[in-house]
Amino acid sequence: MKEKIEIVLTDITTLAVDAIVNAANGTLLGGGGVDGAIHRAAGPELVAESSTLGGCETGDAKITKGYRLPARHVIHTVGPVWHGGEKGEPGLLASCYRRSFKVAHENGLKTIAFPAISAGVYGYPMAKACAVAMAEAKAALERFPEIERVLFVAFNAAAKAVYEQAFREVFGEE
Ligand code: ADP
Repeated sequence: MKEKIEIVLTDITTLAVDAIVNAANGTLLGGGGVDGAIHRAAGPELVAESSTLGGCETGDAKITKGYRLPARHVIHTVGPVWHGGEKGEPGLLASCYRRSFKVAHENGLKTIAFPAISAGVYGYPMAKACAVAMAEAKAALERFPEIERVLFVAFNAAAKAVYEQAFREVFGEE
């Protein structure tokens, strides 16, 4: 199963996968960081569609088409803002991954790429965020065997090393 997981150092908007996941905000109308990059690359059709969805709760996920992106779809999920870890942040972040995988499954998608949800402006510590991401990927691959590839996208070399450590911690025994 662990061979289905890949850690890549790239810009998520360049990936030709079934879906890239967007670390969106609750309005789904675009924002900064990876959200801004995805909206710029997808074109104005993306905000046109996502504005019909009625926003998104923290921990939930909603799907749109990918428009001008090489990815066929965008799964928009809203991560928690980090307030120190005692305000339900780990459960909400895990829910982002679980809901994103569920939406992928419901839409018959087999390849999915994630940015480090909440680990930018929302302030979630990167190592903790990657541990949640990796544990949820393992659970999702057990639940949805049709999923062929899960890409974790690091935006810099330090982030890649953190993902690799989380990978070893979750899959190291196998
Ligand atoms: P959040 O608001 O959920 O914290 P951000 O967009 O601020 O979301 O950051 C999430 C992560 O996405 C950060 O680790 C940031 O470095 C990374 N990131 C930003 N732009 C891109 C991109 N184009 N491709 C992949 N990752 C990106």
